[in-house]
Amino acid sequence: MRRTIIAGNWKMNKTCSEAVDLITSLKERVGNISSLDIVVCPPYVSLREIKNIIKGSEIKLGAQNMYFELSGAYTGEISGEMLTDAGCEYTIIGHSERRMYFGETNGVVNKKVKAAFSQGLIPVICIGELLEDRVENKTFDVIKSQMIEGLKNLNTEVINSKKEFIIAYEPVWAIGTGKVATPEQAQEVHAFIRKNLALIFNENTASATRIQYGGSVKPDNMKALISQKDIDGALVGGASLKADSFSKIVEVCQ
Ligand code: PEP
Repeated sequence: MRRTIIAGNWKMNKTCSEAVDLITSLKERVGNISSLDIVVCPPYVSLREIKNIIKGSEIKLGAQNMYFELSGAYTGEISGEMLTDAGCEYTIIGHSERRMYFGETNGVVNKKVKAAFSQGLIPVICIGELLEDRVENKTFDVIKSQMIEGLKNLNTEVINSKKEFIIAYEPVWAIGTGKVATPEQAQEVHAFIRKNLALIFNENTASATRIQYGGSVKPDNMKALISQKDIDGALVGGASLKADSFSKIVEVCQ
């Protein structure tokens, strides 16, 4: 039985004081819910303060990105060790905005996943096709190569050391557009992802790995999505910026 996981990706939104207000409201609304995993991924500068606020609640902390090197002369970057020290248990890796605006390739994603594992972080690995890929019937090819390249040479960590990771299927055409994938469209790709996890790793890993859907998730479309067999939660952007909508999404999944 896979435990549902709802994560909020705040992206480059919320000053520190706004972040404090949001997490304070979320803690009041959903901080005691223990039947699923709730994760917030605020900007780096708010991590430590949020860690102190969520202490004693069920809400967990994640980052939106990390660098793959351990430390050194990499101006502007953040290491996995810094994230765990700031209270993170999770980190998003390979979000489509990182791929699109910062040139992150599947190879970079692979290095980051390895670095996350080495620092004890659970990577939330984002994959998904562009609109043109879908129109040209290339969705499965794109997903497959993102998985093969992004998850390359991780058998030791995943199979022997049982390191956990999460896949977030985020069709790029659905992110921030209000155009959510239909539950059937999402389920079809989630099932494909699970099939490929079995090929890359094994059946056990495939059935244990949680696959989130992301792309214009709102309280009113969450129920139909979470009812699908292979959808184990959501990565939420816009609707995670308001305590009311994020809490409602969590409540729908309870
Ligand atoms: C995201 O950026 O991960 C995302 C899913 O955004 P939105 O919910 O706003 O589409």
